[in-house]
Amino acid sequence: MVDLPTILIADDIALNIQILANCLKDDYRLKIATGGKQCLKIAQEEPYPDLILLDIEMPDIDGYEVCRRLKNNLSTTDIPIIFVTAKQELEAEEHGLTLGAVDYITKPIHPAIVRARIHTHITLKIQSDKLRAMALYDQLTGLYNRHYLLDISQNKIARSIRYQQPLTLLMIDIDHFKRVNDEFGHPAGDTILKEVAKSLQLSSRKEDVIARWGGEEMVVFLDNCDLGNAMKKADQLRHNIEQLMPLEIKITISIGVGLLDEGETDISKMLKRADLALYNAKDNGRNQVVSQ
Ligand SMILES: [Mg+2]
Repeated sequence: MVDLPTILIADDIALNIQILANCLKDDYRLKIATGGKQCLKIAQEEPYPDLILLDIEMPDIDGYEVCRRLKNNLSTTDIPIIFVTAKQELEAEEHGLTLGAVDYITKPIHPAIVRARIHTHITLKIQSDKLRAMALYDQLTGLYNRHYLLDISQNKIARSIRYQQPLTLLMIDIDHFKRVNDEFGHPAGDTILKEVAKSLQLSSRKEDVIARWGGEEMVVFLDNCDLGNAMKKADQLRHNIEQLMPLEIKITISIGVGLLDEGETDISKMLKRADLALYNAKDNGRNQVVSQ
């Protein structure tokens, strides 16, 4: 089944909800709120709405206030809001738009026009979601991408310095990956990359940032983790991959571990040390963890 975009309709009058629902129910998954309070609650529940149709005059919290709160909340700020209201005055429309609504529809509604406008805003929302995901994630593995890792590294390093907590980085490489691709084909290679990425994610803490660095290389940032603990953690990851047997192929990884040294304010030297350690792990026979 195709996953339909989700629209949340908030209105205190059942008939208004019914009219909107009738003209949208074939193309969207609908969620209903009968007041402002309920709208704020449902907007934060999965599946998150891709768009909210918001009445202005509601007895508990009016639509303007609901809009203001949704826009001020990080988890709901990107959801487009369209006011649907009997208020015809230009001032009311202007006020709604200054609060961050993308559109303003007056009742009585014309179904074809409502459908067309909603379709436009939903399309824009889905496109911007995709762009945001592309900017952060690697498409194949779902891990963060190199760009994001470099971006976040500044925050991680600043935090590590401020709180005087150790920060380590694991540079991971799948052993003999070229041979896997040559022998089993690129689709198999892709599957193995995905399986390895999944295993790394499953055995990491929520705060660990894991990124695909490029090709078959992946990087893990370990917050508040000294070299000794990073070595242990890395060896656990190595062990898990050795047991994984994706597509019943024996896969191993080599890991180089680098620590942020005192006085360093960016990722470059730490990255170099991890890279050199990885080189040594390869040189020593692979399927092992080596520190800087
Ligand atoms: Mg109303």
